[in-house]
Amino acid sequence: MITVSEKCIGCSICAKTCPFGAITVMDKKAIISEACVLCGACVQVCPVKAITIERKAVSADLSSFRDVWVFAECEGEKLKGVALELTTKARELADALNQKVCAVLLGTNVKSNAEMLGRYGADVVYVAEHKMLEPYTTDGYAPVIVGLISKYKPNIMLFPATKVGRDLAPRVAASLGLGLTADCTGLSIKDGLLLQTRPAFGGNVMADILCPNTRPQMATVRPNVFKKVENPRKAEVVEVAVDLKEHTIRTVIKEIVKTATPGMKKIDEADIIVSGGRGIGSKEGFKLLEELAELLGGAVGASRVAVDLGWIPKSAQVGQSGITVAPKLYIACGISGTIQHLVGMKDSKVIIAINKDPEAPIFNVADYGIVGDYQKVVPLLIEELKRAMKK
Ligand SMILES: Cc1cc2nc3c(=O)[nH]c(=O)nc-3n(C[C@H](O)[C@H](O)[C@H](O)COP(=O)(O)OP(=O)(O)OC[C@H]3O[C@@H](n4cnc5c(N)ncnc54)[C@H](O)[C@@H]3O)c2cc1C
Repeated sequence: MITVSEKCIGCSICAKTCPFGAITVMDKKAIISEACVLCGACVQVCPVKAITIERKAVSADLSSFRDVWVFAECEGEKLKGVALELTTKARELADALNQKVCAVLLGTNVKSNAEMLGRYGADVVYVAEHKMLEPYTTDGYAPVIVGLISKYKPNIMLFPATKVGRDLAPRVAASLGLGLTADCTGLSIKDGLLLQTRPAFGGNVMADILCPNTRPQMATVRPNVFKKVENPRKAEVVEVAVDLKEHTIRTVIKEIVKTATPGMKKIDEADIIVSGGRGIGSKEGFKLLEELAELLGGAVGASRVAVDLGWIPKSAQVGQSGITVAPKLYIACGISGTIQHLVGMKDSKVIIAINKDPEAPIFNVADYGIVGDYQKVVPLLIEELKRAMKK
């Protein structure tokens, strides 16, 4: 609930700030209409702290919340692969509940992605296009999503556990007083509720989480956790009017710096990953892995130790506190295979491990194991590949 106290001086700053045009000033007092979505923009700008929001979880009439929603993240104008993975999962959940799948597209020139979302099972695609929705900012995206949730009342909302999703989902949840389960590895329907499964205690136990008292039930899922499967239908496109004001966006993006090696694929998009761990021994050692990855048209990944030692950027980290990958081929060099690493790559189609220690746990998940020093094995692989490519 939002209230305006006696302290209000009628300065109109809140009315100018509100992205939803929900505030008018009459007789030197701010009046808040039903268009308010509790985004909190007015609370932040009020110079006399006259506006307060009391956040109470929604517990009444949960039956009015319907449908399974997906935040369909784009990179520029292009849909991210994870959006289709989530839409596929949303289709499965919605079918179990006999409800619809709705996807939300935000940005500029993103509408054309609606057809693709329909191909993977979306019944409805909400499209909000505005120049201030590209590039992503929390202040730009959160009020739009909060507004849509307040208006359409989804039952479930899924976000990708990407940099954007990990920033956006908690802001939306906090704005609406909802729970949020991060990094789910399993989602299903149990007694009409979303059963959210995620690793806990360093991956040693799997926790099942239910959210019986609030709606929407919200979860984030990492890329490559679910498979995308086509389930075609013609999605209805609903264009959403957005009225964002420049001064409500507090972040200015000056430059986006890509840390990946030019020409090298990102690990969450690569079909082949050559990964290195502590056994690589140095930053220079990774050059050998880069050469192999380049020959194979793949990307270079790493264990957390290699990242912590500064041998490779964090964007290459595979595992529990890094990125989950499921490439066609994963070559683990000098990586022991702790549970925190395995949870991030165990679903790779073929795993090759190169390790000096025949007892290394990585061999338990590997399809092919090579016991040896990577400095001897990798050059041999490179040589053999080059020879095969010449044929
Ligand atoms: C909360 C938490 C989250 C974590 N998240 C992650 C995560 O996301 N990702 C991750 O990877 N880890 C993560 N970790 C760290 C994890 O527990 C391990 O410390 C880490 O995975 C070990 O990395 P490693 O295999 O490179 O190193 P080590 O375990 O030290 O293994 C090095 C291996 O290299 C082999 N070796 C040495 N020299 C050579 C050589 N010349 N040729 C071939 N083999 C050689 C050795 O035999 C050994 O098996 C996390 C830990 C915690 C507590």
